[in-house]
Amino acid sequence: MSPKTRARLKPLEEVDPEIAHAIDQETERQARTLELIASENFVSEAVLQAMGSAMTNKYAEGLPGKRYYGGCEFVDVAETLAIERAKKLFNADHVNVQAHSGSQANQAVYMTALKPGETILGMSLAHGGHLTHGHPLNFSGKMYKIVSYGVTKESETIDYDEVGRLALEHRPKLILAGASAYPRTLDFERFADIARKCEALLMVDMAHIAGLVAAGLHPSPIPHADFVTTTTHKTLRGPRGGAVFCKARYAKDLDKTMFPGIQGGPLMHVIAAKAVCFHEAMQPEFKDYQQQILLNAQAVAGALAEKGFRIISGGTDTHLMLVDVFCRKVTGKQAQESLERAGITVNKNAIPFDTNPPMVASGIRVGTPAVTTRGMKEEEMRLIAGWIAEVLNNVDNPAVLEKVRQEVFQLTARFPLYENRRPTVAQMA
Ligand code: PLP
Repeated sequence: MSPKTRARLKPLEEVDPEIAHAIDQETERQARTLELIASENFVSEAVLQAMGSAMTNKYAEGLPGKRYYGGCEFVDVAETLAIERAKKLFNADHVNVQAHSGSQANQAVYMTALKPGETILGMSLAHGGHLTHGHPLNFSGKMYKIVSYGVTKESETIDYDEVGRLALEHRPKLILAGASAYPRTLDFERFADIARKCEALLMVDMAHIAGLVAAGLHPSPIPHADFVTTTTHKTLRGPRGGAVFCKARYAKDLDKTMFPGIQGGPLMHVIAAKAVCFHEAMQPEFKDYQQQILLNAQAVAGALAEKGFRIISGGTDTHLMLVDVFCRKVTGKQAQESLERAGITVNKNAIPFDTNPPMVASGIRVGTPAVTTRGMKEEEMRLIAGWIAEVLNNVDNPAVLEKVRQEVFQLTARFPLYENRRPTVAQMA
């Protein structure tokens, strides 16, 4: 073996010890803390392997069988499998699996369906919508006219009458359903009915709930919407990335928007990993996993409510809940920071009609996909809810935060993660 070849085979810790160390520390952090960020999950070893594969080296502009580059024989196999599996999993006419992210999936739909300046009616960011649904600093808010609907003050659930009224008043070209922080089942039939009445297209961003939809535990938007976007890395538990489904009549335009419209070479290693994720989502265990996510979310919400925290909309039908912590005199920011010190990761989140600014916020968003992947069940959820309450009742008491951190550490040790990728503690020291 030539010295040059040998150099290329050196392990990461020899080539770049600083990055190797950062990766080791991140892997260890994931193993030792409780991940309750609703948009995060832990992929399988199989998904990690596909992502860290030689497919990252390949340019493959175009679609399987119609590429602008030679040598695409095997990446074509991966993308064809990803497409076939995604269509089967969600029962869709057409899918494009090349979106680098959820944001680009959304951009692809807007640029297929709308001209700049046309109107989108989507969920208000302050009530749970995503940045790409019209934030003024995001391309969506800059390129399109945004009209927003929200939740009612009484029920904190979507005000469908208001959606219908706004649709008739503003005549949007596109109605957008889907959110980042909405804990209740979305009524896609109702959205479709409203869209029909004002002759708008219906788009659903199912990024958060895609795993539940795949498992049949949340109604599917596919029969009702012209376009459906998703990320692949949240409840779906695949690699970081996006995908767009559409009715057959939009297929050609959508594919053309994705490439050459907004992206260049697709990330073939990520597409291979998406194929693995779709395969995993078709297995019977995946439904059990999604069912447990729901049971766990209900267990956390129930236990936090018992401990005096207000759960927005009174509970959850999904993998996430919004908890009003300000009702207990703690801001979302303080809650996030003190929970992090205790080894519990959540994000601060505005609650509907929040009186605090977004960077402070009155709530936290709590989700169960990641802890459920580790094998935790209702019993552990009740423990976790107890620790959350203990921390939030003692945000300025370092001894309590440290005590909880130790308890969290003991629990996580019972539910190991990426065992064969973690450095031993001795190596870390
Ligand atoms: N859509 C929704 C509803 C989301 O919650 C998110 C991310 O959190 C996105 C789109 C964007 O996905 P990405 O971060 O991959 O761009």
